[in-house]
Amino acid sequence: MIDRNNLKIRPIIGLEIHVQLATKSKMFCSCPVEFGAEPNSNVCPVCLGMPGVLPVMNRSAVEYAIRTAIALNCQIAGFTKWDRKSYYYPDLPKNYQISQYDLPLSFDGSFDVPTGEGQTRRVGIIRAHLEEDAGKNIHDNPSITQVDLNRTGTPLLEIVTEPDLQSADEAFTFCTELQRLVTYLGVSEGSMQKGQMRFEPNVNVIIEYEGLEYRTPISEVKNLNSFKAVRSAIAYEIERQVNDWIADRDYVIDKRPKENRGWNDEKGITEFQRGKEEAHDYRYFPDPDLVPVAIDETWLEKIKASVGELPVNRQKRMKHEYALSEADVVTILHDKASADLFEAAAGMGHAVTLGKQFISFWSAKANELKCTIAELGIDTDRMGELSKITAEGKINATAAAQIAEMMFDRPDPPFKIAVDQGLVQVKDENQMQVWVDEAFTANQKAVKDAIGNPKKQKQARGFLAGQVMKISGGKADPKIVGKLIEEKLTGMDSN
Ligand code: ZN
Ligand code: MN
Repeated sequence: MIDRNNLKIRPIIGLEIHVQLATKSKMFCSCPVEFGAEPNSNVCPVCLGMPGVLPVMNRSAVEYAIRTAIALNCQIAGFTKWDRKSYYYPDLPKNYQISQYDLPLSFDGSFDVPTGEGQTRRVGIIRAHLEEDAGKNIHDNPSITQVDLNRTGTPLLEIVTEPDLQSADEAFTFCTELQRLVTYLGVSEGSMQKGQMRFEPNVNVIIEYEGLEYRTPISEVKNLNSFKAVRSAIAYEIERQVNDWIADRDYVIDKRPKENRGWNDEKGITEFQRGKEEAHDYRYFPDPDLVPVAIDETWLEKIKASVGELPVNRQKRMKHEYALSEADVVTILHDKASADLFEAAAGMGHAVTLGKQFISFWSAKANELKCTIAELGIDTDRMGELSKITAEGKINATAAAQIAEMMFDRPDPPFKIAVDQGLVQVKDENQMQVWVDEAFTANQKAVKDAIGNPKKQKQARGFLAGQVMKISGGKADPKIVGKLIEEKLTGMDSN
């Protein structure tokens, strides 16, 4: 038996991704694209594949696809056409899917994926083409299968990468970055819950053993619908393939066919579905009902102008412009609407303070309500003003968090709330001295520790400051409080 520890393993991973485009209507008919509608309510003779009907291309879908392809550094075809991919399945009423075969809309691109510590992995994009989705088989009732054709004909962008990814984590990051890209471009909602992004990794490994290289057969894991499943399925596949090779040295690419496998989320394993012998022959041929698409320079320039700032560039710019940490800028850029809100509010408020408030109470509130910060519905002016009055010292950080909470119930400007609630910071040193004295009298033990106990000094001083803030009802200026506490302690120390 070969010892696993003597092997050098290099995973080779490529991805095939289907992204649902955010058009109002379907790819080749005017039926609405709508999630959660009554089954088979958004259908017509075209998407049901009735004889004699004529499909008409959705121009927005083509523009969304080209916008994405540009962002993925792809070449855009000047001329592209539609092909029929034939197969039989209950969720495909026409018995063929309209797709693109030999002349895809775009090809030869790349996408840079951060791999940590400022490094990136450049992943080649082989092609990105348009096609229509199939319907959905429903197995809710164990004795029958039902078919919902609402999804039939929904526009999909299929993106195929080169096998450039080298770990499950890299593939995970690729998928999350792609989601951020398509949502920033406004071409897809990118919702996992609604099945708008589906992933199919191709995985095999190069095993180095006693100076020789062995390649395991490629397996394709079908239809993953979460980032977590992508990472888990790839990690599982890498280990499975190495173990299968250890058990059978003929488990190599030249001697075994490519496999299709399915991910069993409950068991955390992939399961064999079919080998190459049974692979489909799709009998592709040009769709005679659809005219080819010519993409001229004028059209292309117009779409290029709609691409906007890409999330990766925006991240770099905002990090510098607002002096944010890498982690904070990622939080703020979570979704485009929240990032837009941040920049607009920063313009009328105080950017650095807003950054802190964004990642503390605003994002905590969004997490609590399971929405984005933009979806909290706090308008730009008030969010900006809150950061401004905090930065100017009119209120302290604790009061800011309290006011933020109240802003959900009151439409008033934050400063008005501060005045009404008596949260405007007291700058009067005499008043603060009274509070400090009061806190010292009430907490003799902490005072003793703050002077005499080197181990507890820092903690005790922090405790005293907290007590002063409490006595002041959150109105004291923490900076001045800190100063007064130090002065008082120094005075006592020398006694
Ligand atoms: Zn239709
Ligand atoms: Mn496809």
